[in-house]
Amino acid sequence: MKKINKHYLIRPLSLNPHRQPYIDAKAAVMAAGGWFPGASGLYRSAPILRMLKGIYNSKCAYCEQEPKGSPAQVEHFRPKDGVFGIVHTGYYWLAYEWSNLLLACGNCNSTKNNQFPIRNIPGRVLGPTLLAGVLDDRANFILNSPLKNEGFELINPEIDDPAKHIKFLPSGKIVDSNSPRGTLSIKVYGLNRDELWINGRKKIVDDLLYKFGRRIDRYVSGERAAIVVIDDLKDIIEEDIWRPISRNLSYSAFYKEMLLQYDQFLVAAIGNKRGATVLRIAFIKFIQSI
Ligand SMILES: [Zn+2]
Repeated sequence: MKKINKHYLIRPLSLNPHRQPYIDAKAAVMAAGGWFPGASGLYRSAPILRMLKGIYNSKCAYCEQEPKGSPAQVEHFRPKDGVFGIVHTGYYWLAYEWSNLLLACGNCNSTKNNQFPIRNIPGRVLGPTLLAGVLDDRANFILNSPLKNEGFELINPEIDDPAKHIKFLPSGKIVDSNSPRGTLSIKVYGLNRDELWINGRKKIVDDLLYKFGRRIDRYVSGERAAIVVIDDLKDIIEEDIWRPISRNLSYSAFYKEMLLQYDQFLVAAIGNKRGATVLRIAFIKFIQSI
């Protein structure tokens, strides 16, 4: 999970407040007083998906993985058709609200489902704010009251900096940074499910250690000189760690953490002291070169 820069004022054309499909879609859910089967799927139309993919570099807002197998989905941060654990219609009036639409993989989307915990329980917004009988867009904007006053608990990468709430361990596990919002988000988004932790981040570390280990063995056995092996290790760092960071690929936040904390994440796992030293030198030299 990483901070996303999304400009709420620059919205897809299909969500332009003056365009008829948008006006009609909103009017239909407002008239029904809730989300209903057959309500317009305008929120997930191709132009919106395309713009979100550009903003998110096609990665999930929560797990930072480019979805494999199933396509990325347009996710409602505030659920549109109910709120888990309470009697609530869901925030149906935000179904087409640009600031409420994120990009997510199918697994994170279904794990989160319609969970939306807040701090200010009595301040839970139960319905749309109207102005002269019509939806008041200012009041229904995610950063304005009354929505802001709910004190949403889940990390929204468009608003919050996830790095302040969660952190990565060398095992690939995600834990909170003494942040109750971090704890809750890890659980609700399922950020440590096997697919992401064991078969995702931990596998990245294991694969890297295997590659490093093979080069280091050649140095330890005397087959290759230190200077040659250090160059080989630098090449791996560039291709396998720096590339995903610089190109903003899947798990880039995790790769960045690995590079920043190479001692704890990678060097510490090298059993041989001389081997650990050449790997440390390779990291130092690589970081000096960027
Ligand atoms: Zn995901």
